[in-house]
Amino acid sequence: MLKVVERVLKFRDVRGWKKYHNPKDLAASIVIEASELLEIFQWVSEEESYDVARRNIERVREEVADILIYLIYLADVLQIDLEDAVLEKLKKNEEKYPVE
Ligand SMILES: [Mg+2]
Repeated sequence: MLKVVERVLKFRDVRGWKKYHNPKDLAASIVIEASELLEIFQWVSEEESYDVARRNIERVREEVADILIYLIYLADVLQIDLEDAVLEKLKKNEEKYPVE
């Protein structure tokens, strides 16, 4: 994960794009990319969605990657350590939803 984060941030930095990255636009970009992912499954049933995903796996992969890339940019701008944030949230979820 760390290697991916470094590569994504380097891609941005060598192009001088960080100055365009503010929290609002990055949050919007995450939603826009998530919508592009959702669009692949528009008007298909839950059952059909497995087959649609298989037939469009390249597009699905690209949109999943786009979402993660913008998430990495947002976390960087807000100085959020993604690993810490995920582990802290998992801990809260474990307390909220204990295994029976
Ligand atoms: Mg996209």
